Formats: sequence, C-alpha cells, structure tokens
Amino acid sequence: MSSAETPMMQQYRALKSQIPKDALLFFRLGDFYELFFDDAKIGSEILDLTLTQRNGMPMCGLPFHAAEAYIARIIKAGRRIAICDQVEAPKPGQLVRREVTQIISPGSVLDGNVLAAKRNNYCAALVRGLGGKKHGLACLDLSTGEFQAGEAGGVDDVLDWLLRLDPSEIVIPSGQGQDDDWAELRKESNRLFVSHEGWAFEGETAKAALLEHLKTHSLDGFGLGCAPLGAAAAGGLIHYLAVELRRNLGHVRRITAFQRAEYLGLDPVTQRNLDLVETSREASGDATLLGAIDRTVTSGGGRLLRRWLLHPLRDRDALRQRLGAVGWWKEGEPAREQLRGHLRDIRDLERLIGRLSQGGGNARDLAALKLSLSKLPAVRAALAGIDLPRVAALRDEIVPQDDLVALLGDALVEEPPIPIKEGGMIRPGYRADLDELLAAGTEGKEWLARLQQREIERTGIKTLKIRFNQVFGYYLEVSHSQAANVPADYHRKQTTANAERFITPELKEMEGKILGAEERSRQLEYEIFLSLRQEAVARLDAIQQTARALSELDILAGWGALAQERDYVRPELTDEVEIEIEEGRHPVLEQRMLGERFIPNDATLNTAAQRLTILTGPNMAGKSTYIRQVALIALMAHLGTYVPAARARIGALDRIFTRVGANDDLSRGQSTFMVEMNETANILHHATDRSLVILDEIGRGTSTFDGLSIAWAVAEHLHDQARALTLFATHYHELTELALSRPSIQNACVAVREWNDEVIFLRKIIPGGADKSYGIQVARLAGLPPSVVERAKEVLRILEEEQLDESGKPRLSQPPKNGKNPSKKIVKEWSQFDLFKQEAS
Ligand code: ADP
Repeated sequence: MSSAETPMMQQYRALKSQIPKDALLFFRLGDFYELFFDDAKIGSEILDLTLTQRNGMPMCGLPFHAAEAYIARIIKAGRRIAICDQVEAPKPGQLVRREVTQIISPGSVLDGNVLAAKRNNYCAALVRGLGGKKHGLACLDLSTGEFQAGEAGGVDDVLDWLLRLDPSEIVIPSGQGQDDDWAELRKESNRLFVSHEGWAFEGETAKAALLEHLKTHSLDGFGLGCAPLGAAAAGGLIHYLAVELRRNLGHVRRITAFQRAEYLGLDPVTQRNLDLVETSREASGDATLLGAIDRTVTSGGGRLLRRWLLHPLRDRDALRQRLGAVGWWKEGEPAREQLRGHLRDIRDLERLIGRLSQGGGNARDLAALKLSLSKLPAVRAALAGIDLPRVAALRDEIVPQDDLVALLGDALVEEPPIPIKEGGMIRPGYRADLDELLAAGTEGKEWLARLQQREIERTGIKTLKIRFNQVFGYYLEVSHSQAANVPADYHRKQTTANAERFITPELKEMEGKILGAEERSRQLEYEIFLSLRQEAVARLDAIQQTARALSELDILAGWGALAQERDYVRPELTDEVEIEIEEGRHPVLEQRMLGERFIPNDATLNTAAQRLTILTGPNMAGKSTYIRQVALIALMAHLGTYVPAARARIGALDRIFTRVGANDDLSRGQSTFMVEMNETANILHHATDRSLVILDEIGRGTSTFDGLSIAWAVAEHLHDQARALTLFATHYHELTELALSRPSIQNACVAVREWNDEVIFLRKIIPGGADKSYGIQVARLAGLPPSVVERAKEVLRILEEEQLDESGKPRLSQPPKNGKNPSKKIVKEWSQFDLFKQEAS
C-alpha cells in the first residue's frame, strides 16, 4: 500500500499478515473493536452493523465491553476471529503496541453463549495416510480438555467417526487439502474446514509435539503406540490450537485412544435413520433416543451420555457392570434420589476447571467450584453401601477437596461479582492488608461526607454536593445561581449546563489517599483471586478425574430412574448371534404417545432358524416402528441400559445397519432411488453374520417389477451370503414366497382388520404374510376426496380381475361403473391369531 499510510494502518496490516486469511481481525481501538476493509464488509453483514467509510476505507466497530455477544454470532456463522488487543497503556501521541492475543474459532470457542451444556464442542484434525486407505483422526474439546485420537480406514470410515463426534471445526494439513476425497468429506460433514502447517502433522514432528505436551516418553500408555497416523493428527491438532490459535492447553492432560473395534458399528445413515441424537425429520421435536433415555442431572453427564450413545460397547463385561449399577439403582429409589439430589447441586466441573486453568474464569466460577466440591463427601457417602465393582471404582475416583473448599470458603464473599479487577470478591477478615486498604477507603468516604456537611455550613449553600467522575476525580458542585457565594479558596474546574464544579487542595489531597487505597485494594484483590485460581488449578487432575466419575454415575443412576419409571428390564447379554424380545416397545414413541397405548410386540431373530423376517402389511400399520424398535432395543443393550420389553436376550452384534424411508437428498443432487441404492450397496458390502440389518421398503423408487426384483435379490444376498440378522419390511407381498425355499426366512405381518370397508390397525405383529395393501383405505384415511377413492377402487377391481381389452391391456379407460367392489376374503393366516379372533368376535 501507499507509503502515506498512517503508522496505525501499517500496524494493522502487519497484524493481519500474521493471521490466517479467513479470520476476521478485531482491532482494538480505545473502547471499540474495529473491523476494516473486507473484514468490515463481512462483519457488518453477519452482525448487522452499519458499514462506514473513512478515506474510502470500509470499517465498522463494536463496543469492547459487549464483544462476547458479537463474537458468538460470528462463530455461529462459522467464521474465525483474531482478537487484537492493546498490550500497553496508551500514551498520548504514541502508537500503542498491539498483539493478536488469540484466535477464536467454532472448534475452540469457550463462551457459554455458544457452547451447549450437554454437548461437547470438538475441534478435529484429520491426516491421510499414503494412498488414502487409512486416516488419522484426533478430536479435542477445549472447554473440558477431553482429547482423543485414533485411526480409521477410508473416507466412509472417517465420516462415520466424524458424525459420531460432530466436531464444529476440522483441521487438515496444508498441502493435503486439494483432492476429491477431502471435497467429499467437506461436503458430507458440512463443517468448517481449515488447513494448518503441513509439517506440524508429519509423523516424527507431530509425535514429538504430542509427547512433549503430555510430558511422557511413549504413547503406549495411552494406547496410541501403534497408531502413528492418530498420533500425527493429535500432534498437529495440539500445534494448531497452541500456536495458530494461541491457546493455553494446560488442562489437556491425557489422550484416549479411539479404537473402532471396541464399538458397535453405526454408520452415518444408521445414526440418522434411528434418530439417535437428532431427528431426520423436521418438526418431530426431540423425538430422539437421546431425549428418551437422558435422565442425567449434570451437564457433564449429559455430554458423556451423548458420547456413549454414539459409541455402543461390544465389551460384554463392561456392559454387565453398567447393567449391574442400573439394576441397583432401579430398585434402590431412596438411595438413588439422594445421590441424584447431590449431583444436581454440582455445577459443570469439567468446564469450570477448564476455564480457570486456561487463565479465564472469575470469582463466581471459583465460588461455583467451591459449592460443587463441597458436595463430594455427600456423594461418596451415598455410594458407600453399594457392593458393585464399577460403583466402588467410581467412588474411589471421586477425590474430595476439603482444603480447597475451606480456602475458597474463607476467602470469597457469598456471591462474588463477575469482574475480577474491580474488587468486592474477597471476604473481610481474610487478609489484614486488604482490610486495611478497604478501611482507608471507607474512612476516606466518611471524611468526604463530613467535608460536604462542613462546606454546606461554611458557605450556606444547601445544595452543595461532593461528586466524582473519572476525568476530574472528586469535586464540589454548586448550581449556577449559587456560584457567586463560593469562598475564595475554591478553584473553578468546569462549567456545565446546570452547575459549576470546583476543587480545593484539601479535597485533592484526600482524593489521592482514597483513590490510592481503592486502586491498591482492587489490585490486591485481583492478586488474591489469581492465587486462589492457581490453588484450584493445581488440583486439575483430581478434579477432572472426579468430574468423569460423576458423569458416569449420573448416567447410571439416571438409567436406574428411567428403568423404574418406564418399567424396563435388564437385557440378558449372550454370546450367540440372536435377538429375542418379548413384548418389546419403541423407546421413543412409547414416551411420546399421550393417552393411547403402545402395543408391545415380540421379535425373534437368530442365525439358525429365523435369520431373515419378511414383514408385510399396509402403510401406516406399524412396520417401520416395529423394525426400528428392534434395532433400538438391540442398541440399548449395547449401551448397558435396561430396555423397554418384558424380556430380552440380545446376542453380541458387530454392527447395526438401516435403510429406512425415502431419504431424498436433493441438496446433494441425488434422487431418492439413487440414495436408496447407495445405502443398500453399503449394507451388502459390509454386513456380516453378526450384524443386524433393518430394511424398509427397498426398491420403492423405481417401477414395480424393477423394485420387486431388486428387493428379492437383496433379501437373498443378505440371507445366503452375508447371513446377517435381517428385518425386511416391504409392501411387495410377493417376497413372502422367499420363505418357501429357505427355512430360516420367516414371514410376519401387521394385523389389520377390515370393518365396513375400513381398515383398523391392530399394531400386532403376527406370523404369516399380508396379501393386500389397503392402499386405498389408507388414502381415504388421509383425506383423499371420496370420488377419487371410489374411482381408485374401480380401477383396482379392473386390475385385480384382469379385465383386459383386445390388445391385452387392462380396460382402464372404460367409463366408471357404479358397481360394488366384491370385497375379497383378506385374512388367511390371521384367523389363527388370538387377538384377531377376539377383536373379530
Ligand atoms: P408403516 O411403516 O407400516 O407405514 P409406521 O411404523 O410408520 O407404519 O406406523 C404408523 C403409526 O402407527 C406410527 O406413527 C404410530 O403412531 C403408530 N404405531 C405404530 N406402531 C404402534 C404400536 N405398536 N402401538 C401403537 N401405535 C403404533
């Protein structure tokens, strides 16, 4: 730029050149943050601020004290912000030194306005191995210090993992950012992608950075010894956060290895289809499994539950330990509610200590920490009598901090203010030197009150007041009409619209004492605050460990409450490949049905006798609900929670696959049919004889014969080749014939009853196949005009009776007749069914 540029503008450009290109620079100027040039244009748009021009330079500004709210909005819009502060006191006529103190990004934000309490906010890093067959992944939640890394296979695997953790920002090594796979990941994950120094992700460099950060010589202890790509991603991520974003990572003390094989596989499609943590359909509110089984009372518990839910365990012993605790708390209501009562009083320990250890937080956070820690002995006492190994282990991990609680209790006032540099935080009596300074301040103020009284008497001006402002300090104020009466020793300082302001040497002397004492006491309070914070941070490891234990206890006790509330049973975990459910219910729907009764249903799947079930029945009968409910119950058993059934035996599964409903993905330019086939292909490639597959309406998006043929071949493949446990819901009645040739394929249907040409859904799954789809009756229920319904019946009759014209085509073009539909006998196998008989009688 031109050499005529002001020094401040030169400084601005120098700072701007130090930060990533996409980051908006918040340039501190007095009491404002200013944005210039393109940053101003982008910022003014996101923040709805007025864009002004100075010498042709676009700019906009926002008040420094309200910056948090503005920052939150920019972060929510998915941008990064570089905060540039003044790092020295301004001197007249001189350029103030400024530095970029931190860069805030969606994955590293700490502000409570942006973070959701029951949700981790991850920043992730990805590196690609040679050939792209393997990837290293790492994920860090800066607000809690939780850090994990691991390795995945190809892009599908990476996406699977990304969806489970749902990071708000993904960092990749620069130089690896160009090719198509990243493009696909970018699009699919729909998250902010940023690139960072490629060398920071290189094997040895990254590993060294990680070892140094964790202060260890080997990664074996963290389970990452054999995951060089995982370590590379983790090391690069540390570098990105610490160096590029200038963050303090002191609270990131350990890393956990993410080992995929430990978890039940849930690909992204399945996570969405089963509505685990988010609903695939809008407007269905909080109809997620997470919503249905979350009874946690702490934020940390809520966050851990979300992680657990997306990482169902395969380790049966660990699951049995969880189940043991859930069972104990299901039965022991008084002890459970006592424990949960204490947990409710505990604030978000992980984020509190996270904030404090990063040099943030205030005295109110310390008070919250004190209050929370003071509950720990009660929590431990509530666990004392429980003779279960997992609970005992968790109890031992809770480390009460009596000395810290006592210290904070002595030092802090009951409700400390939020600002940390304005005093008012420390309890009188805690420190003699502070008390003295405070007394000096108070005495000074009493002296001022006496002075005011004395001057009123001396001058006879009743309205005389001693006031204070930042510019003049203390002064005597007298209205214009009285100004002539002031004594000669008053020095006029200022004239305002209503009054005259004066000072006296005596007043100025006292002012020095008062302000000095106040200034010193504020400074001293701040120093005391820092030392208290240091005391708290010194216990970081113990507090983090305690927080983890509390989160787990919160989930398990909550599940005990849930099991009692909803009458869940303990699933029997077996090593076979099987699912045996008696009177199972849909965990989410059941809770959302008001007034109506949810009809329970059984399910049997096993490798030998009933590997694949073809489920037929009309639309709206309850097929989707049923197959999802089986998948959800199987999944819940792998979480270690009780399940909504009268009895359940759940074998050891490796993955759950779903292909449900018509997921049109027009945003990605794919038709329904294409999406359906993609998802089906994925299942056929990956399902094993330990997988559970649920399929809803395969082959719908194409012509009937095409669709039927595809559905048929898919069913055969799943049964014969993959040998997976499969529930196959379909409206193709023809598929029921598969059972004729294969003994381990069974037919089931949803019972419906025809009544005066109407259909009544009984919601009961019964053996056998449906032979009619009742589409027209359902269409009438949905409000199709009667004339259209009548005509459709007529067309159906022509098709069913195969009334053909001369050319062999159905006589559809005949004028409508007003004949009666000779309603066929619809119930074959159903008549054997008890419920149906009862209903029909
Ligand atoms: P389909 O897949 O056969 O078209 P759905 O599974 O979508 O049918 O079920 C339609 C509706 O029926 C659901 O929204 C639910 O309200 C109700 N429903 C399904 N199963 C049951 C059940 N077992 N008990 C009570 N209502 C049910």
